[in-house]
Amino acid sequence: MEQIDDASNETLILGGGPAGLAAAKYLADAGHPARILEKRNILGGKLSSWRDRDGDWLESGLHAFFGGYTELHALLADVGISDHILWQPHTLTWALPPNFSPRWNGGTVFEEFHFVDMPAPLNGVGAVLSSRYIFNTIEKMLFATGTLPVLFRNHGYAEHQDDLTYAQWHRKRGMTEHMLQTFFAPMALALNFTSVDNISAEALLRVMAYFASSKEASRAGFLDGPPSERLIEPIADHLRGRGVTIETGAAAAELLFSDDRCVGVRTRDGRTFHGRSVILAAPVHDVAKLLPPDMLRDPLVAGVAKLESSPVINGHFWFDRKVSHFTNLMFSPGTLLPVHADLGQASDGYGWSKGSFIEVCIAPADDLIGQDDDTVIERVLTDMGKIYPDATREHLVKARLVRIPKSVYRAKPGAERLRPGFRTPVRNLFLSGCYTNHRFPASIEGAVRSARYAVEAVLAQGD
Ligand SMILES: Cc1cc2nc3c(=O)[nH]c(=O)nc-3n(C[C@H](O)[C@H](O)[C@H](O)COP(=O)(O)OP(=O)(O)OC[C@H]3O[C@@H](n4cnc5c(N)ncnc54)[C@H](O)[C@@H]3O)c2cc1C
Repeated sequence: MEQIDDASNETLILGGGPAGLAAAKYLADAGHPARILEKRNILGGKLSSWRDRDGDWLESGLHAFFGGYTELHALLADVGISDHILWQPHTLTWALPPNFSPRWNGGTVFEEFHFVDMPAPLNGVGAVLSSRYIFNTIEKMLFATGTLPVLFRNHGYAEHQDDLTYAQWHRKRGMTEHMLQTFFAPMALALNFTSVDNISAEALLRVMAYFASSKEASRAGFLDGPPSERLIEPIADHLRGRGVTIETGAAAAELLFSDDRCVGVRTRDGRTFHGRSVILAAPVHDVAKLLPPDMLRDPLVAGVAKLESSPVINGHFWFDRKVSHFTNLMFSPGTLLPVHADLGQASDGYGWSKGSFIEVCIAPADDLIGQDDDTVIERVLTDMGKIYPDATREHLVKARLVRIPKSVYRAKPGAERLRPGFRTPVRNLFLSGCYTNHRFPASIEGAVRSARYAVEAVLAQGD
């Protein structure tokens, strides 16, 4: 073991995504010095954005912000950027391609679920009851009886459903295949880029429980521009103003230990940073590389080596005209654009209000991720054209793909039990990140919550 005596007073945070930034904020709130070391040259992690050669924005992912993201909204309020979220009408919209269901023939069907003005979960039940296409009368009753324990018993019920896939749970509860493929399939893909046949029931039920937890929890919003400009850099500026040091291009390569403590980190370019505590805020597959192999056998962190990650492709499609007229989050079953949004229409900040700029989470991407850009773009465009008839090659200005082979942890059955907590076997080494067990889905809110718990553990250390 390397002997290092002059450990600095800082907490080192490895990773400058939402979890790392939030951890620095909570440490600053507590008057503790912090230094973020981020591998890439830009901050933001899966919430990052950058310009392409033409000056147009590319993003790691299409991001919706929900009303119930309480920790995140409190953080945005403290930084003074709450108004950077553009709240959309309290509606979730399904775009169903022509002939998707034998129940209707002909063109595309748009089904808007308007949350009604009632306390949760009745506002959502009211939205489902108003369905004209996806649910028939019997299915509305089946939805109410099938999801009853989730809507009214909250997370306690969801937590016991991790051994089943969502599809298995759905069938057990007597709901129809039509409901599964039309309504729930795109939700699963939006949540975890994983199909209803592979996602854990618990993962999807937790979202329903969360939507049912408060009236505004299900309202979606978008940033009023690219996340780097409208969220990440404002938070980073706020942190710098409070004394936090932020280093980009600083990939942690090795943790340094002395006796029973983690005393610092060596970066890939050979620099050494000493710290009083270390928070690992990198994605789970990167944390698995940083933790010593013998430590990964400890039950506290064993899940780190076992969790898998979902691949996803974020697609960007610019059109010379408005091909869609929606500003909300769109779900589209049976297509390669299961969740998408026209950010050109939703937000002036992308500089494309003259036409449509449609961002798409292309999922499941397990097979597509290795295919060439032209093939993927052509297939997505074909599906997009079924929903928006003007979304054709002729009107497409350009399309760009961002591939993320390992995005969020794959929430397959059994994975929930593998999510580690915030402590490790080393008392001054902590975990934060959307994959940890903060009892929330892998999301921006989950990442921020994990940071809150990790910092509580750092402070509880007391030295
Ligand atoms: C396509 C897509 C769409 C999404 N849509 C939504 C959405 O609509 N709503 C929502 O709430 N969430 C969404 N998410 C999920 C959300 O982006 C993540 O849950 C969140 O960004 C995770 O934050 P994090 O800080 O835990 O990890 P990350 O954002 O992955 O940040 C980790 C950081 O650690 C850095 N790092 C890695 N290794 C090292 C190392 N060795 N040394 C130093 N730094 C390192 C990485 O470069 C990265 O910057 C989406 C994700 C994707 C991919």
